[in-house]
Amino acid sequence: DGTLWLDGQYIPWRTANTHVLTHSLHYGMAVFEGVRAYQTAEGTALFRLREHTERLLRSAHILQIPVPFTLETLMEAQCQVVAQNHLKEGYIRPLVYLGSEKMGVSPRGAKTHVAIAAWPWGAYLGEEALQQGIRVKVSSYTRHHPNITLCKAKASGNYMNSILANNEATADGYDEALLLDVEGFVAEGSGENLFMVKRGVLYTPDLSSALEGITRDSIIQLAQERGITVLERRISRDELYTADEVFFTGTAAEVTPIREIDRRVIGQGTRGPLTEKLQSAYFDCVKGRAPS
Ligand code: PLP
Repeated sequence: DGTLWLDGQYIPWRTANTHVLTHSLHYGMAVFEGVRAYQTAEGTALFRLREHTERLLRSAHILQIPVPFTLETLMEAQCQVVAQNHLKEGYIRPLVYLGSEKMGVSPRGAKTHVAIAAWPWGAYLGEEALQQGIRVKVSSYTRHHPNITLCKAKASGNYMNSILANNEATADGYDEALLLDVEGFVAEGSGENLFMVKRGVLYTPDLSSALEGITRDSIIQLAQERGITVLERRISRDELYTADEVFFTGTAAEVTPIREIDRRVIGQGTRGPLTEKLQSAYFDCVKGRAPS
C-alpha cells in the first residue's frame, strides 16, 4: 500500500481512483512512459530519466495534450515516488490522461491529469528469458497507425495493436509477438525494439515503423563503443529467420534474446555471444558498474 503522485500531490495508492467518464478511458487519448530504477553503488538511480520524461512531453505534444507540469517537476516527482515507496529497484509509470469534465470526441474542455506510480517489477518476460531466450511469433497484426506513425511518441494510452498481437502469440504458446510494418518488413515487438546480428554486424529496423526506444539507443551506443558496426535499415522476415542472433530491447524487457521465431531456430537456439556481451554491457551501464 504505497504512495502515488497525482497532479502535484502525494496520495495513498488506494485512493488514486478515476471516474468512469474519464475521457481517456473512452477514447484512448493518453500518453505514458515506462522507466526503470536500478540499485547502484551510489543508491537508486532512474535510468535515462530525462530522456523518458522528454519523450513523455513530446508524446503529449504530438497528441495536443497540454501538460501543466515542467520537465523538472515531473523528473523530481518520479524520484520522490520511488523514494517514498522505499524502492531500491522498480518500474515507474508516469501517465498523462484527460479527465471526466467533458464527453464527446473533442477533448477540449477535459482537464489534463498526470499520475506517477512505481512498483517492484523484475524481469518482464522472466529471468529464464534473459538467460535462455524466448520464442516469438510474427503477428497477423501490423504495426501502423493510419494517419500518424507515432514512432516518436510512446504511442498513447491505446495499445490495442500490441495487446491483440501479444494475445495472439501467447495464446499460441509463444512468449511474445513480433509485428511487421504495413509493407511486410520487421517493425518491433508488442513493447520492444528488435536487433539482429549477422556476421558480426548489428542491424535494427529504422524508425519508420518502430518506436524510438531509449534502450535501443543505449544498445546502439554500447555496441559502437565496442567497435561493432550498427546499421539501421529495413529488415525482411527471411533475414530474421537466417540471422545469427536476434534480441529484443526495452525498458521492461531490457535485453531479451530470441531463440526461435515462427518455429525456426535462430542461430544456435540459445543466447548468442554478441547478445550476451551487449546484455551484460547494458546491465553494467544501468547499474552504474564499470564495464566487465
Ligand atoms: N516499442 C514499443 C511499442 C514500446 O511500447 C516500447 C516501450 O517500452 C519500446 C518499443 C521500447 O522502448 P524503450 O526502450 O524506450 O522502453
